[in-house]
Amino acid sequence: MKDEELIRLADEARKNAYAPYSGYTVGAALLASDGSVTVGCNVENASYGATVCAERVAFSRAVADGKHEFLAIAVVGGRCGQPAETRFHPCGICRQVMREFCRDEFRVLVGNGEEIVCHTLGELLPAGFSSDAMKETRP
Ligand SMILES: [Zn+2]
Repeated sequence: MKDEELIRLADEARKNAYAPYSGYTVGAALLASDGSVTVGCNVENASYGATVCAERVAFSRAVADGKHEFLAIAVVGGRCGQPAETRFHPCGICRQVMREFCRDEFRVLVGNGEEIVCHTLGELLPAGFSSDAMKETRP
């Protein structure tokens, strides 16, 4: 799948974002190794701590569908009703969730229809804590 198509799917999902408090809408499209794509959008809550980011919604939905191997995620965000920003990046919690299932080479696409920037998870979360560390501590 082309990067542009994954960004487009993320932008489509962004339309479903529930963001009455921040007014900031985000969409994500997660490409699994089997070629399937799972989308997510941010879902805010009056109890702010219960808010879930678009990326984590996509990962949770994909895992619930039995998927554990992923190639890339596109993330698109911006003010509600405005075009997506070109340099929107996943928050730290989402980067950690990506680390649970993905290696350094996992691709993180940010941008919009005009500009796409590709990072790797290794760039966004260097020396991240992973399940490998937990394996080393198990008896
Ligand atoms: Zn996040």
